Amino acid sequence: MNKDIFLTNNLSNKKEKFVPINKKKVGMYVCGPTVYDEPHIGNARPLVIFDILFKILKCKYGKESVKYVRNITDVDDKIIKSSQEKNISISDLTKRIIKSFSEDCKFLNCETPSEQPQATNHIDLMIKMISELIDKNFAYESNRHVYFQVNKFNDYGKLSNKKLEDLIAGSRVDVSKNKKNPEDFVLWKPSIKGEPFWDSPWGEGRPGWHIECSAMSKKFLGNEFDIHGGGIDLLFPHHENEIAQSRCANNTKVFANYWVHNAFVTMSNEKMAKSQGNILKIKYFKDKTNGQVLRLALMSAHYKQPLDWNDKLLNDCKNTIEKWYSVYRTLKTPSKMPDDMLLPLYDDLNTPGYIANLHKLFDKAKNGNDNDKKIFVSACNFIGILNETRTEWLNFKRRKYLISEKDILKKIELRNKARENKDYKGADKIRDELFDKGVLIEDKDGKTSWKIK
Ligand SMILES: [Zn+2]
Repeated sequence: MNKDIFLTNNLSNKKEKFVPINKKKVGMYVCGPTVYDEPHIGNARPLVIFDILFKILKCKYGKESVKYVRNITDVDDKIIKSSQEKNISISDLTKRIIKSFSEDCKFLNCETPSEQPQATNHIDLMIKMISELIDKNFAYESNRHVYFQVNKFNDYGKLSNKKLEDLIAGSRVDVSKNKKNPEDFVLWKPSIKGEPFWDSPWGEGRPGWHIECSAMSKKFLGNEFDIHGGGIDLLFPHHENEIAQSRCANNTKVFANYWVHNAFVTMSNEKMAKSQGNILKIKYFKDKTNGQVLRLALMSAHYKQPLDWNDKLLNDCKNTIEKWYSVYRTLKTPSKMPDDMLLPLYDDLNTPGYIANLHKLFDKAKNGNDNDKKIFVSACNFIGILNETRTEWLNFKRRKYLISEKDILKKIELRNKARENKDYKGADKIRDELFDKGVLIEDKDGKTSWKIK
């Protein structure tokens, strides 16, 4: 589509026209999971939002021209703590969580990013970058720790609109005696007994959290790239620190040009977070609903707005998809969508606007011909909905109602026999039994058909 993409850039706090550095090499880096526990719905929101942005960028610039990098943090305080609590090794824990994370991504029908680098495979690059920061006098070693000296970087605080004075005041509590200044943050720290460690010029230790994203984005996207994304909770200090590290180490005026952050998922207006104790894990939904329902729910609010998660939202989304499947057609190739269909997504990822357009297309398809139905299904497919066949969708429902197709047919046969024997009471009983399991029976022209209600 020959239209421009607009994104809200947190560097300027304005909606800006997206202009890539190089149209043939569009780069996006999104901070991925810290693999210490299975992902929850709050973690799922950026997965779906940046998946949509990935699709839009590929649509505009071509599949081969977009690189989407999402890292995996597999060394971190939370991981060490969780492995001790669960009494399993760190590598067993991270392997297990990475596996369930990728299953959850599949369940949500998210595309696999171009690269998913793991922090522990890139410790050498982090050590190199930390050494450069020391050489350039932006960082210092102190008692086997290395810190970034915040007051050496003039643009510190530009992304989060924080002033150095406020940061100093805010970090007075619990300041390490190793630091020159309270606002300085750690790049490398010694490992204590039982923790994973790597050899470094500063002794055996492990990296601070922020440096991995600076090192891995440099490897896969270069010193300057187009889009950096993540949840809004990462804006400060994580993203502010990434900018400081990368710009100082690489000697650049820019790190990423566009900073895009999604708002929280809330429950009863409280942020969904493990620390709040109100999380719903994605895996919890696997035998309760279909991944498409979750996906549609996660797209139902604009990414900059909080999304309140509740049963009504899920139920509405389930009913919508159920309705949409009534015009389902199998597609060999996608049909051409109306020209202005993608406009809401080009306009700062307005997913609710796109969904509103889908409702209009559905109304047209419902009363229209086969082609209208195919156009509608193509438009759903674009955002990762209705990608399963109708049978697969029904299978999920059947699973929910705990009855197999074989058993349904057996019951229908029994019912027909009862009717032949004029045992109408018995026949009605079987019909009601099936109804309770969500199966509707219809007798027409001497034949019995069934459907999931
Ligand atoms: Zn990051």
